[in-house]
Amino acid sequence: MIMHTNRNNYVILGPPGSGKGTQARKLVFHLNLMYLSTGEICRQLARDDNGIKSIIESGRLLSDIQITTLIRRYIKDNIAQIKNKGIIFDGFPRTLQQAKDLSIILDNLNIKLNIVFVIKLKLKESMNRILGRKICNVCSSIYNYEHSVGRSIHCATCNNVLIERSDDKVNTLKRRFEIYQKQTEVVIEYYNNAPDIVMLFIDGEQNEQQVFQQINKKLNIII
Ligand SMILES: [Zn+2]
Repeated sequence: MIMHTNRNNYVILGPPGSGKGTQARKLVFHLNLMYLSTGEICRQLARDDNGIKSIIESGRLLSDIQITTLIRRYIKDNIAQIKNKGIIFDGFPRTLQQAKDLSIILDNLNIKLNIVFVIKLKLKESMNRILGRKICNVCSSIYNYEHSVGRSIHCATCNNVLIERSDDKVNTLKRRFEIYQKQTEVVIEYYNNAPDIVMLFIDGEQNEQQVFQQINKKLNIII
């Protein structure tokens, strides 16, 4: 059983389509945590920084050093709130180097990482979820269908014909998934060997509510 306080600090890991962003936001809401999403930080920065903008638009990832610099800046800017409320890291660390960098940053600021969630999902389900995802380019509603659905579908809100997300093609997804697996394996091993960190493995094949129930049960909190 985990003694739960609002001052725990979390990392959440999961492959594309695992819904880790959604689960992270639920935790933020229920535990009143600070929320650090690398994706969101990058998008914010891309608005003011053309170098970062061009990297993101070309589909490349930022380097470990670039990411770590951003994370360090965010943590230092929000140190009082992080210490007061706790924080969840979503999309970071992705690599062993980033995990080591995060440990150093947190150690220097006397912040302890306590809990690492790993949401497990198979490639097949990841593909069904992401390739079956359709987004309305008029009102931004998102719909999920099995990948095999080929007919055009109309938005239930505005009746516009739905399109598939352009970046969600089969090969790109497979590659993203494989990179995630390879990098995360090492990050998981790193955290497994860390003495004070509790690893919580979550079955991501279930639906959003069930996944959150698992997380909840494992955290032993009542919502
Ligand atoms: Zn619509």
